[in-house]
Amino acid sequence: MGALTLETIRRAPKVLLHDHLDGGLRPATVAELARESGYAKLPTYDVEELARWFVVDEPGADLVRYLQGFAHTTAVMQTRDELERVAHECALDLARDGVVYAIVRALLSAMRQAELSETIAQVAVDFRDEGVCGFDIAGPEDGFPPTKHLRAFHLIQREDFHLTIHAGEAFGLPSIWEAVQFCNAERLGHGVRIVDDLTEGPGGTRLGRLSSYVRDRRIPLEVCPTSNVHTGAAASIAQHPIERLRRLRFRVTVNTDNRLMSGITLSSEFADCAAAFAWTLEDVQWLTINAAKSAFYGFTDRLALIDGVIKPGFAALRAELEPGREV
Ligand SMILES: [Zn+2]
Repeated sequence: MGALTLETIRRAPKVLLHDHLDGGLRPATVAELARESGYAKLPTYDVEELARWFVVDEPGADLVRYLQGFAHTTAVMQTRDELERVAHECALDLARDGVVYAIVRALLSAMRQAELSETIAQVAVDFRDEGVCGFDIAGPEDGFPPTKHLRAFHLIQREDFHLTIHAGEAFGLPSIWEAVQFCNAERLGHGVRIVDDLTEGPGGTRLGRLSSYVRDRRIPLEVCPTSNVHTGAAASIAQHPIERLRRLRFRVTVNTDNRLMSGITLSSEFADCAAAFAWTLEDVQWLTINAAKSAFYGFTDRLALIDGVIKPGFAALRAELEPGREV
């Protein structure tokens, strides 16, 4: 079989665990909502120019520059109507991209540098039966360790609720260690700096204690390759640690992070990785099942998703692409 095309990947059933609502608006919607609400600070109201402005891909860009676009997107997401429109369009855009499960069931993120984490954790718990599936913290890692938010994490744990933490993106192992061992993160947002705990030797790759723990416990890594390139956490897709981690069989998942700021879709992200690492449809399926197993979703629902949607979807695609082959 030849290289995987974007179109084939788009038709495959996919699962998305890490996609920020305020990082995935349509540029036209940003411009329209800004006009309607009288928000005057957009750099341009021309939709194409705006789309280009949001994509931060100049060399040397870092996380802080990357986060600037959010001042504009959050400014036009302040009313119930605005939020409903953005969430509705997000669900439509993901469905059109072949995403069969996404955190459009909301996962509430607090910011590391702010003081609101406990309040947001409580809101997440209060609305767990109305579509909220868990809690997260995001934002700059350096200087804002996750242990600053222990009260929020303990609240989530006391309530038997779900927790993921952005850790190991721009910052290294201490951030991952705190997230896993002090805060009890069930998943790691990014987590790719876990490669700092790997050493190459004559006998192959050696895992240190933390990376062994993360792999042994099957702690999911919500990897976002293009986002990492745009924030300077990786030099290019081809040099991104996702392939090394996948080959070592960490619980790797592929995610978009911020579709607007990275100018991507989940399908394009898979296609770029497939081109760089010669991924097959089987590889895409393995990564998708990893994501489905890691979703903050009931066990029987996850099984139904995997056995009723993902496996048959990939089997049908394989049968079409390779007629005559056992699927
Ligand atoms: Zn993120």
